[in-house]
Amino acid sequence: QDKRESLYVLSTWASKYFKEQLWDTETGQSIALSYFKERGYREDIIKKFDLGYSPDQWTALADTAVENGFHKDYLKEIGLAIERDDGSIYDRFRGRVIFPIHNLTGRVIGFGGRTLKTEKTVPKYVNSPESDIYHKSDVLYGLHFAKKAIKDNDVCYLVEGYADVLSMHQAGIENVVSSSGTSLTSGQIRLISRFTSNVVILYDGDAAGIKASLRGTDMLLEEGLNVKVLLFPDGNDPDSYVQKYGSTAFKEYIAKHQEDFIFYKTNILLKDTGGDPIKRAEVIREVVESIALIPDEIKVSVFIQQCSHLLDIEERVLLTELNKIRIQKA
Ligand code: ATP
Ligand code: MN
Ligand code: MN
Ligand code: MN
Repeated sequence: QDKRESLYVLSTWASKYFKEQLWDTETGQSIALSYFKERGYREDIIKKFDLGYSPDQWTALADTAVENGFHKDYLKEIGLAIERDDGSIYDRFRGRVIFPIHNLTGRVIGFGGRTLKTEKTVPKYVNSPESDIYHKSDVLYGLHFAKKAIKDNDVCYLVEGYADVLSMHQAGIENVVSSSGTSLTSGQIRLISRFTSNVVILYDGDAAGIKASLRGTDMLLEEGLNVKVLLFPDGNDPDSYVQKYGSTAFKEYIAKHQEDFIFYKTNILLKDTGGDPIKRAEVIREVVESIALIPDEIKVSVFIQQCSHLLDIEERVLLTELNKIRIQKA
């Protein structure tokens, strides 16, 4: 417990360090602050989310931390520093803009760092590893800033990335969280269920986003949540869309294009069938598989009805399929 408290203190200190590097240094301002501003982030949003900058040096943070009395072992433990074979350490985050990750009570528990380089050879994001205070599968980026709005609006928007959360906040939509690129876990879903049972998935409009949205849908259905989905057009994500077209157009777009998972999934899968009856049968089976995950029997029967209309297939046939799937799973 003592150790965990020390890790909290260290990450809070590091967050402050990264902020100072961003706001109070020449390089921070000319490289990192200008980067955020070019991306369209306002100063109030940069401050609200505690964004920072890690200098492009090997031991800038580690040296300062040790000078300030923090032990090397804790730096390693929390992943701010990495140990070489010879026992020396170097900073994990170098030359990156920093997105601190907060827990539900607002304490900093980890960091995401985005490169400022455009080369494809460097990883775009580097993230803190698991530690005693950071369990990725139980954390949603932005939840601390979103929980009240999620409760008030009784719906949670789920996005892929840090940038999406920031841009939506800036557009006045605060009920938004991100699973930060990793696939959604049941722990994360249970966190959302504390505040609402309605989720709208707003993933990137690319192949990876489609795949993740289908998987995310099934996970959410299984945990008993109501799921709507929307993909952004032409490879956009919520961040790029709202920055390009503005918050009014963004809100109109999501109001108009979000659809119940069943329509979403059916349409996505039907697209690839080209009228082939065997492929069509496979689509029907896959949609029923999603319905079979829903714990609430009344909802199940409503969706079976909808599915019957949508795919022009008798309910009786769908129910037979549903039972077959249930028996297989039992
Ligand atoms: P940006 O708008 O800054 O380019 P993004 O959020 O749109 O970033 P995506 O490529 O859509 O980036 O990835 C979504 C999320 O997945 C990121 O916000 C980040 O949390 C995570 N992620 C992306 N690339 C990596 C990586 N190389 N390593 C670890 N996590 C990553
Ligand atoms: Mn993406
Ligand atoms: Mn993205
Ligand atoms: Mn993006």
